[in-house]
Amino acid sequence: MMTIPHEIETRIATTATGCVYLVGAGPGDPELLTLKAARLIAQADVLVYDHLVSAPVMALVNPKAERIYAGKERGNHALPQTQLNDLLVSLANQGKCVVRLKGGDPYTFGRGGEEVQTLRASHVRFEVIPGITAATGVAAYAGIPLTHRDYAQACIFVTGHLKDGTMNLDWPGLARRRQTVVIYMGLHGLAHLCEQLIAHGLPHSWPAAIVQQGTQPTQRTVTGTLASLPELATAARLRAPTLIIVGEVVLLHEQLQWIVEAAD
Ligand code: SAH
Repeated sequence: MMTIPHEIETRIATTATGCVYLVGAGPGDPELLTLKAARLIAQADVLVYDHLVSAPVMALVNPKAERIYAGKERGNHALPQTQLNDLLVSLANQGKCVVRLKGGDPYTFGRGGEEVQTLRASHVRFEVIPGITAATGVAAYAGIPLTHRDYAQACIFVTGHLKDGTMNLDWPGLARRRQTVVIYMGLHGLAHLCEQLIAHGLPHSWPAAIVQQGTQPTQRTVTGTLASLPELATAARLRAPTLIIVGEVVLLHEQLQWIVEAAD
């Protein structure tokens, strides 16, 4: 029987097994993809994507690729996380080039860390391709410079996802002046968020904004104060995804907006 020299054997092992590319799709505008992301989605054998990935980005996917929807809408997870992790491992073990495409950046509120932990534990090769996260993409397109130095020395990203109807956040740490707070997944908890920030010391008049579908043709920005934003947002009947930005940098929106937004 012919024996394969060790280094060739190793090479066969690494080329015969697949790879999972955890790719950030950005906040919606397809031109905000990195070159690497665009190349990989055009080459993938299989694409596993969630609902945040915009239609124009999906249009760039290899037409021959198998597409698997992984869900992740509020209250509608098409695939539970453990099944999804197992799926990625099994596809890679079939030798496929798998692109796991996530909205924004995979390591920013995207559970990308959990997915690569499973891949590492299963000895599956992976790469992580960062994307423009909602905070930076949306802020740029809404004319809100997150750390304009006249107004902010720090910027904090938090999740406003409600657990048992409340947000378990470090309120004294968030209710500070000279700081911008960006809240992901916060629409349903907006009233609670504004109340808590006021209760922990920020004025009622503190500027706040909420942006619907940022960087997309349907982008809409609603600005107000901690006191007024919840009602303004309800009246505007915003559609997901939305991002909340709290801080004096929001005052710059009027001066620096450069997108003509959809009326509703
Ligand atoms: N990994 C993603 C975030 C996933 S959490 C990223 O880095 O952007 C999902 C939340 O992101 C949404 O609830 C919303 O708060 C925010 N988001 C994502 N895309 C958005 C967009 N285009 N406009 C406004 N908010 C967005």
